[in-house]
Amino acid sequence: MNIMQRGVEEILNTISGLPIETIELLRNRISMMLSDKTSTTTPIIEYRKEIQENAQFVCPHCGCDDIIGHGNFKGRKRYKCKGCRKTFNDLSGTSIDKLHKKELWSKYVQCVSEGLTLREAAKESGISYRTSFIWRHKILASLKDIGCYNMEGIVEADETFFLSSEKGNRNIPNRKPRKRGGKATKRGINDEHITVIVSTDRHGEFIAEVTGKGRLTTKQIDAKIGKWIGSGVDVICTDSHRSYEGFAKKKKLKHVKINASKGQHVKDKIYHIQNINSAHGMIKDWMHKFRGGVGDSYLQNYMNWYRVQRKIGVNQEEFIRYALTSNNAFIAGKNIKTHYIIS
Ligand SMILES: [Zn+2]
Repeated sequence: MNIMQRGVEEILNTISGLPIETIELLRNRISMMLSDKTSTTTPIIEYRKEIQENAQFVCPHCGCDDIIGHGNFKGRKRYKCKGCRKTFNDLSGTSIDKLHKKELWSKYVQCVSEGLTLREAAKESGISYRTSFIWRHKILASLKDIGCYNMEGIVEADETFFLSSEKGNRNIPNRKPRKRGGKATKRGINDEHITVIVSTDRHGEFIAEVTGKGRLTTKQIDAKIGKWIGSGVDVICTDSHRSYEGFAKKKKLKHVKINASKGQHVKDKIYHIQNINSAHGMIKDWMHKFRGGVGDSYLQNYMNWYRVQRKIGVNQEEFIRYALTSNNAFIAGKNIKTHYIIS
């Protein structure tokens, strides 16, 4: 064994004794080092090609799939949509589209996949704080529905609540901002809360969708989780909230209601909403990291982030693929309000 090999063995020995999270972090840092030494946009185009081959290739402007080649521009392939007649390229509509300093993007995504703060990620990847904010939200918005599949078997659903925050919204008149870490002043569910419906099956499919303020309606439940209830779902377990009843009826599902206030927790040994209850706890814990608070208009982005991290862990390469999958990020990105930037 020569000196270099011995050095590698020593390092590997040290690494093998570390906790799994630290090893994952190291893997990320090593691939960051590697990607610094290679061109960055080439692998991105390659990822996109793979994604387009595997998924349905649609027009980023209108969603139509009737697409033809349209020559090259600046060395990149162009396409034309026969539906809306607009042209686009491999990156149009993705979260990297229209960004300056594209060469820093992969590194930035790696920072997001590691859960760095806006400031840390900005420093690490060499962009400004403001840019860090915009890139973060473009990436997170583009994750919507990516990696979601139909649920199967026993499904659990229940809602959780976050204190509403108007951060990022300048159009709310006559309202004093609530102090950091504040509590709602009114009791119960009202316009001081924003609702997130969380649903999961027993195979790990997981959905977390913001429904808005006020009481949850059957229509909202259907809009947010209905599309993920396929023919493989047998039962839906919820609390005794009326709106789930209507939803189960509409979907022709067996509905098991768990009434925790009457001491019920498990029915027939298998029906419960304990997976959801523990998921609620984990989401809340995870959200504590963002101590400056999250504006209502960004909450869905954070739910997307949580869901993807729950699914793939700290895996920057997979995270990059996720962030490049949607070419509908155009529209989502338009809603980012840069005049109010929080930590
Ligand atoms: Zn089109």
